[in-house]
Amino acid sequence: MSFTTLGLSDSLLRAVAKEGYTTPTPIQLQAIPAILKGADVMAAAQTGTGKTAGFVLPLLQHLSGESRLKPCRARALILTPTRELAAQVHESIKTYGQNEQIKSAVVFGGVNINPQLKTLSRGVDVLVATPGRLLDLYQQNAIRFHNIEVLVLDEADRMLDMGFIRDIRKILKLIPEKRQNLMFSATFSQEIRKLAGTICRNPIEIDVAPRNSTVEKISQGVYWVEKENKAALLTELVSNTSEQILVFSRTKHGANKLVKQLSKSGLSAAAIHGNKSQAQRTKALQDFKDDKVQVLVATDIAARGIDIDMLSLVVNFDLPHVPADYVHRIGRTGRAGESGQAISFVSQDEMKQLKAIERLIKRKIKRLDGAE
Ligand code: AMP
Repeated sequence: MSFTTLGLSDSLLRAVAKEGYTTPTPIQLQAIPAILKGADVMAAAQTGTGKTAGFVLPLLQHLSGESRLKPCRARALILTPTRELAAQVHESIKTYGQNEQIKSAVVFGGVNINPQLKTLSRGVDVLVATPGRLLDLYQQNAIRFHNIEVLVLDEADRMLDMGFIRDIRKILKLIPEKRQNLMFSATFSQEIRKLAGTICRNPIEIDVAPRNSTVEKISQGVYWVEKENKAALLTELVSNTSEQILVFSRTKHGANKLVKQLSKSGLSAAAIHGNKSQAQRTKALQDFKDDKVQVLVATDIAARGIDIDMLSLVVNFDLPHVPADYVHRIGRTGRAGESGQAISFVSQDEMKQLKAIERLIKRKIKRLDGAE
């Protein structure tokens, strides 16, 4: 199956070809024609499935043609839970929309609001936003929602986890009722379905990534290791490979400590978490992408949605309390058809969490040190 059969315009197909994509991913195969038809869509798809192109490409096609910019208005609104994801979705819009006459902007908190006020004053076709900053801008009369034709909720489950439900409800009251709704979520819990019920009209449901299919591509293993020995084990692991590694830490403090310990051993590492400024986070991520640092240590929230190509190894320095976070974490490797490896360091007091994760993914994770 090739991209040419999906109904996309030549200019979008050129941008896709330039990215080197030859075959649409399963989510793209289903979502693109459905969205082009104008239907509401509710899709279960994690990061790594190609979901961003799955909604950005048809959205751009819908918006392209003569530009109809109006001051302080947008025609499509994409809401994301984190700044990183917002920035990445915006990058994708620029990449896939390079041949279109489309104006896009991204707004999120933690950075100066003034440039955002200025950008919005001229109007945009697509606005990517995190909910809190969007409402700030609304209160400052910088954005009006009358012209919204398409609403996208990306990583809707994350938005609920992060407590954005009230902000989302407020935004929903402000945008026109007649619009196309696209909702993407890693899972469809009852809560998400309830939210979808209030947003979407007869949505086409797409479920291409039952979570285990993503998990199956990833080779997973566990090391039994006492807490106090974890840092030494990580240092050894990092020293013995030239691969870049994404390391998950449950706490911000733990992430900082790890970076210090790795640096002491002469290894290059950077951390991203909620206590870092936006500029620091962007720099750490960029340094990692540019291969200037070998190890990126991230907390679960900071790591949400970050898209790093060709990552072959993820290490869980400690296990997450929420089993679903394990699936999100290891989903950072094995992206879009690549195979990947995920290694977890598990100490005695994390037994319960390991069992909960194994129940969720319906498989026992291999013990790498021969223990049972
Ligand atoms: P996403 O799930 O949207 O975060 O995308 C995951 C990664 O897959 C991104 O790095 C995309 O550049 C890449 N990607 C998206 N669509 C395709 C495709 N059809 N073929 C190959 N790579 C793709």
